[in-house]
Amino acid sequence: MQAWRERLESGYKDFKSGDFVGQKELYERLGTHGQNPDIMLIACADSRVDPTDIFNAYPGEMFVARNVANIVPPSGNDEAYHGTLAAIEYAVTVLEVDVIVVLGHESCGGIAGCLAGMGDNDEGGYVGSWVSILNEARDGLLQGLDDSEDKQFAMELEGIRQSLRNLMSYPFVEKAVKSGKLTLQGAYFGIVSAELLLSNDDGEFLPVLT
Ligand SMILES: [Zn+2]
Repeated sequence: MQAWRERLESGYKDFKSGDFVGQKELYERLGTHGQNPDIMLIACADSRVDPTDIFNAYPGEMFVARNVANIVPPSGNDEAYHGTLAAIEYAVTVLEVDVIVVLGHESCGGIAGCLAGMGDNDEGGYVGSWVSILNEARDGLLQGLDDSEDKQFAMELEGIRQSLRNLMSYPFVEKAVKSGKLTLQGAYFGIVSAELLLSNDDGEFLPVLT
């Protein structure tokens, strides 16, 4: 048997005889009555940053969309296929979540690609095209940085801020925010230290004390 298949099957068996046993009623309720999460998370596809792990969430608690570099594209390109936007629209208009958290992270490969100019021409494939969403934010950020500053970290935070700004370009998001039903929140996870930063209204990221 292939290693990956063995891994899937053994992991599933452990879940079925372990966590699932303790959460049987929860799964039954969720499966019968549907989901009603209060929190939406937009996170990177990176395997090291699992939102439900970081926030210790049960099934049904968090509605998660993951993509490369946790990017929300701006509105205005509506003829394309938009998986992330479909998830956001559903979360806001149907699930009526209380908050959308854009969760960035340390050593993000997508952000490194953007900084390296991967999205500056059409040779970067789908990843280059995707991270080019942040090119303008990157150029603005780099103009204001001096050489001593950590460009990768600064851009990881700026990417989150840009995605929060882009969220507001969708009328259904803007309406929900202005009516007080929805909050937009930035968050950042440091993988090595497991430090969590949350953004304030000024776009500064401050650590959550543990
Ligand atoms: Zn990433």
